[in-house]
Amino acid sequence: MKPLNLILFGPPGAGKSTQAAYLDKLAAIDSISTGQRLRQTVETGSELGQEVAQVMAAGRLVDDTLMNKLLNEWLLTIPSEVGVLLDGYPRTLSQAQSLDQLMQAINRPLEVVIALTLSDEEAIRRLSGRRICRIKGQPDQILHISDQAALDQCRASGGQLIERDDDRPETIKRRLAEYNAKTEPLLQFYGERDLLILIDADGTPNEVSQAIEQALQQRFNGAE
Ligand code: ADP
Repeated sequence: MKPLNLILFGPPGAGKSTQAAYLDKLAAIDSISTGQRLRQTVETGSELGQEVAQVMAAGRLVDDTLMNKLLNEWLLTIPSEVGVLLDGYPRTLSQAQSLDQLMQAINRPLEVVIALTLSDEEAIRRLSGRRICRIKGQPDQILHISDQAALDQCRASGGQLIERDDDRPETIKRRLAEYNAKTEPLLQFYGERDLLILIDADGTPNEVSQAIEQALQQRFNGAE
């Protein structure tokens, strides 16, 4: 598949990072996951990291001015010959407008917005049961507490089961409220420009990946 500049959009728990990893393999695309990058900033323990940690743990959005500045910096590190996938940005109208300006300035047109859709109920079920299995020297793996086999395997491999700070019930509710109030309205913003593809995210990761791939093929390769 040709390199694309795209946004992966969806509520918390929709599986954006899982699908971003899939698309990274499918085409010459580098992902920018804002949540992941912010968590790295938190881990540095810097003053900025401490500020960001508080905002994230409360389930609120990091300030637009800061996010726009960070995104500019991250985007400029992506080589021009590969596409870019934005996972977690833009989340507000101000961010979407800032992104437009930046993409225009660097001549990297936005080609498609894939929006994963999921009910609040299913998002809450996924996030409240989400755990990270961390095994030294290996990439983190995400699992759900209902998956006993995955839990056992993680423990048997000497892995540590970690709950994300913002996956606690009250924070989940706040994150969904932020999404519904500030981020979901962007669907209309991109829909009006005919950039939007809606994908039902209430399936297995594999099913969702297949649906995305098929939709992209149809749109860009004219496949049936
Ligand atoms: P999710 O999409 O599942 O909520 P992420 O890992 O993408 O999780 O983001 C976690 C948190 O990082 C958000 O709740 C928010 O506090 C912060 N964040 C990430 N991206 C942005 C952004 N574009 N603007 C503001 N805050 C952001």
